[in-house]
Formats: sequence, C-alpha cells, structure tokens
Amino acid sequence: MPLTAGGPSVGRTVHYVSHGTPVREDGTQTFPSVCRTAIVTEVDPEDAGRVGLVVLNPSGQFFHPLAAGGSSYAEAAGMVGGSWHWPERV
Ligand SMILES: [Zn+2]
Repeated sequence: MPLTAGGPSVGRTVHYVSHGTPVREDGTQTFPSVCRTAIVTEVDPEDAGRVGLVVLNPSGQFFHPLAAGGSSYAEAAGMVGGSWHWPERV
C-alpha cells in the first residue's frame, strides 16, 4: 500500500523492518530483516513519512523517537532495514 493511501497517525499499527545482520560473501545472513509490529508514537509535522515508533519485538520492545532520527517510509517489498510500512494484506 503506498503512503498516498493515507498518512500515518499516532496510535496506528505499522510494520518496522528490523536491521538484519551483515550479508556474508556467500550471500547468507545469520539474521535477515523481518517485519516487526510497531505503533506510531509521533509524526514529523514537516514530513508525514517520518514517524517515531515503539517497536514490539517478540522478546522485547524498543523506542525509536523522532529525536533519535525516527523511521522513514519505504515500500514493503524493499525490506529496507529501519523503515516502516503498512502491514501487508495476506
Ligand atoms: Zn511488513
């Protein structure tokens, strides 16, 4: 779903793409990027695509506020580590 389908707002649930571990020379990766549940905590008034998030990992949570850079929107298919997107319809 493109960002134009509706901007993020505080309290919406989105996906945050985790940072995977570095890709080895043979192309393998110990931990690839995955979608994690995240809740929007802030929206940048200057850039609606940049948000603050709290990321809910299976074994812990972390806060990713605008003050620390926030998270920028990227299409789900790209699986860009550190980005957010709307949850895929399955
Ligand atoms: Zn996703």
